Amino acid sequence: MQASKDADWLSALIEEFILDWKRSQGADDYWRPPLVGVASANDPLLAELRRVVDPDHAMPAEILPGAESVIVFFLPFQRWLGEQNDGHGTLASQSWAESYITTNLLIGAINEHLKARLKDRGHLAAVTPATHNFDEAKLVSRWSHKHLAYLAGLGTFGHNHLLITSSGCCGRLGSLVTTMPLAATVRPEAEWCLQKAGYDCLACVPKCKYGALHETRFSRQACYRQCLRNNAHYSHLPLVDVCGKCACEVPCSYQIPDKPAASDA
Ligand code: SF4
Ligand code: SF4
Repeated sequence: MQASKDADWLSALIEEFILDWKRSQGADDYWRPPLVGVASANDPLLAELRRVVDPDHAMPAEILPGAESVIVFFLPFQRWLGEQNDGHGTLASQSWAESYITTNLLIGAINEHLKARLKDRGHLAAVTPATHNFDEAKLVSRWSHKHLAYLAGLGTFGHNHLLITSSGCCGRLGSLVTTMPLAATVRPEAEWCLQKAGYDCLACVPKCKYGALHETRFSRQACYRQCLRNNAHYSHLPLVDVCGKCACEVPCSYQIPDKPAASDA
């Protein structure tokens, strides 16, 4: 990912905001430094989302008339969070469930902060919810942060169906749409998932003991069933339909995975 000046400005704004927010909320330190990518609202690949994700996927101008740019940010989790989730047996760890709730609150607060900063510069912004904006029957999103993150140059898709960023896939995405024209981030040219790049990996497959992630297929329904099991287990918490085992303690969890040396490939 090659960051633009605009993405650097937004990234600095978010980083500073997170520091203040953590202090004011007394929140746990769940996150590594944020990553930010920008896509043009006129990117021709946006129309592909209606083919690849869902025919009802929203376009930026439907979220905000006059939209010029889509800003997507990734909040990478600290490694200890992934380690705890990985080491917690079949259910998600309590810290993983709690971090989901706190991170969604933080994403909402970041969105409002960026909206205000964009307004200072004379531009409108519309925020999109961090999660639960999907079709309950089809389990597909009408505003897929993950696909928009790809368009905004934040990374490439892994075999585990997550976006692998330069800080890995263990973390959460947020996005907003603005009328401010911002320089688009250049998308990576190569696949960052080892398997997709032609190396043997599939380390994420055995992490899924719930019949969702296989060598050759993925069951969205089986994945969501496991997320709901975790939600039932943590019934004292607000909605936590999470799992994330396939994102934790695999080569792409916290970084772009290292390619094996030529002789090992
Ligand atoms: S664990 Fe390996 S195969 Fe799975 S997404 Fe990561 S790099 Fe790709
Ligand atoms: S999130 Fe959980 S259930 Fe879904 S694919 Fe990953 S490991 Fe499997």
